[in-house]
Amino acid sequence: MTECLPADVADVLAAVLCTDNPVHATLRRQVPHLSVRGRCTCGCGTAYFELDTSKAEPAPTGPGTIVAAEAQLVTEAGECPGEVLVCTQGGYLSWLEVCSWSGDVEVTLAAASLAADTLLISDGQSSAASAAPPTLRVQVQ
Ligand SMILES: [Zn+2]
Repeated sequence: MTECLPADVADVLAAVLCTDNPVHATLRRQVPHLSVRGRCTCGCGTAYFELDTSKAEPAPTGPGTIVAAEAQLVTEAGECPGEVLVCTQGGYLSWLEVCSWSGDVEVTLAAASLAADTLLISDGQSSAASAAPPTLRVQVQ
């Protein structure tokens, strides 16, 4: 059902939205109805979503724009060159932002999603660590 989403975006959404969080669980149900209406032109992977709101219920976030999920990107060396933010407007998925804090490491969604499985595995093993944002490993070129 997610074939309209690029694989890198679908992978990251699946990784950062955890099923045991009520807001995230609702947002996950929006993903099959989601498409990308634009990408950042710099290549970082930031994506702007389009969602048919008649087909999905809004997450209980209130009417404003919030960061519903975030994940730090870490390199193999343990450095944190950036993060991924999932933003919602009025409870609906709105855009995915890839932030870079480092001029040395090229932070892109394509690199991060290569190892998104790592996040899913570690997330499942530490169910008590729900307060800590998940981490995605980004490959250093
Ligand atoms: Zn960009």
